Amino acid sequence: MKVSQLLNPTLREVPAEAEVVSHQLMLRAGYIRKVTGGIYTYLPLGWRVIKKIEQIVREEMDAKGGQEVMLPIVQPAELWKETGRWEVYGPEMFRLKDRHGREFCLGPTHEEIITDLVKGEVRSYKQLPLLLYQIQNKYRDERRPRFGLMRGREFIMKDLYSFDRDAESSKISYQKMYDAYERVFKRCGLTFRAVEADAGAIGGSGGTHEFMVLAESGEAKVVFCPACEYAANVEKAECQPTAIPEQDMVGEKLTEVYTPGVKTIDELEDFLGAKKTSLIKAMIYKGDDKYFLILVRGDREINEIKVNNVLGPFINLRLAEPQEVEELLQCEPGFIGPVGLNKKIYIVADLEIAKMKNGICGANKKDYHLMNVSCGEDFTPDQIADLRMITAGEPCPKCGQSLKEARGIEVGQVFNLGTKYSEALRAFYLDEKGQERIIYMGCYGIGVSRTMAAAIEQNHDQDGIIWPVPIAPYHCIIVPVSVKDPELIATADRLYAELNALGVETVYDDRDERPGVKFKDADLIGYPYRLTIGKKALAEGKVELYNRRTRQIELISVEDASRKVQRIIEEELAKNK
Ligand code: ATP
Ligand code: MG
Repeated sequence: MKVSQLLNPTLREVPAEAEVVSHQLMLRAGYIRKVTGGIYTYLPLGWRVIKKIEQIVREEMDAKGGQEVMLPIVQPAELWKETGRWEVYGPEMFRLKDRHGREFCLGPTHEEIITDLVKGEVRSYKQLPLLLYQIQNKYRDERRPRFGLMRGREFIMKDLYSFDRDAESSKISYQKMYDAYERVFKRCGLTFRAVEADAGAIGGSGGTHEFMVLAESGEAKVVFCPACEYAANVEKAECQPTAIPEQDMVGEKLTEVYTPGVKTIDELEDFLGAKKTSLIKAMIYKGDDKYFLILVRGDREINEIKVNNVLGPFINLRLAEPQEVEELLQCEPGFIGPVGLNKKIYIVADLEIAKMKNGICGANKKDYHLMNVSCGEDFTPDQIADLRMITAGEPCPKCGQSLKEARGIEVGQVFNLGTKYSEALRAFYLDEKGQERIIYMGCYGIGVSRTMAAAIEQNHDQDGIIWPVPIAPYHCIIVPVSVKDPELIATADRLYAELNALGVETVYDDRDERPGVKFKDADLIGYPYRLTIGKKALAEGKVELYNRRTRQIELISVEDASRKVQRIIEEELAKNK
């Protein structure tokens, strides 16, 4: 492709609306253009990158026996009502009506559609296991569409669904996909980690893992053990209760103390000179029409995902408003505590609270706290569970070593669903004895467009993108430093023809621009290799081979140039396979 013909509008300025590097660079380097919030057009180079990622995904799905299908984007509401997700999905779902007033949605995911298909078409155990997938646009009216392709409202996803005869066999499908995902992200040239995760709205009974591309800008926090295999999203990571040292405990007898205007944990720490580890953080949550008192230690954060899972995932849990707390307990939120509330409200305490002796908590009376409060003596929780967020340095739940922390971008997730959807939609098969049995399912997603963004977050410098070779839009760019010199042009033409004949994906910067402009653009766009043709080197039969990642320049002979570039690229591609 000649650059003069390529629709590749580059920008010098950093677009004001773009907060993260991948978004800035994709706009500046002419990969995408915004149509409206969270919805983008892919320009030719952007679409080439997407197609490369898709192809890697496709090959790895096929290698595991996946069969590609194409399911509709527009889906009837009835199926979603059968699984109960028409309500659960809430405002994230794009909904529409046809001319007869029938309800539809734009598919945010496809469990309903595919389970309904399999229910109609699969009769016998002989047809299982079955792995079906598609690569297609998904629609989610995200609360905060942002960061370009990272969190779009229309985005490209590969989704595969597995159908098995029992739990045992469905575990094998899960493992197959887990392995395929590792291969996909390795082949894309990315540094990633698979972590234990929370199942969220997709639900299901089995396990789930997220695949995280490690990058500072990642929205997700993960912890991992340097000694064993354990790694988990902080939302999910199991916390071990740690004991408080004796000297941090505050006394022996339950006493009320006057704490005027002292409401937060920090203020309380200062005012009483007590350690945060002996304070009890008490928060009121509301789920459906019920209130819950959640207790964690003063130095800990409440993990709302764990709280939600403990109380039942579909109760629309949220923090109670201050006036709701006032109405309920006749006390403002800053002075709430568990003592005396046992029959008034459902109390759920973190594992560490259950061990707490001589702690400090709100007195349920404005401007007062209680000291020397002990769980089991001064109050009794209705339920005790792991409710808090883990932090780096805590012990690994598997081996006890100190956990480390990293940030990641979730590019894929695998779920073992069990029978959640097959039960709701009544998807059965007949076993050897002709008996009807329920199908076991799994679902497995890869954010193709988000993977493109994640690759840039992980691979860039101040001048632009540094594509991993397997997903670069083109592998090599030819830059003659002048298009007015017939000799330079003749060499550039020749190398271009040779590289094309060898199957090397090449662009040719034939524009009448200063070399500095061409180099800047090539660096910004991120072509892995650049062949520069200049007067001086050419006089000695040489051209420059520039490596975008290392920035090293090597003088190579014109005669071998094409073959050499071909060999390097082949080696790079083989490396990740
Ligand atoms: P998130 O927690 O980031 O909202 P999710 O867990 O809801 O994502 P899944 O339902 O697991 O997403 O979808 C599978 C994959 O699709 C995700 O791992 C992610 O890579 C991608 N994805 C999800 N939502 C978006 C989005 N709004 N824009 C781009 N990619 C997305
Ligand atoms: Mg997910």
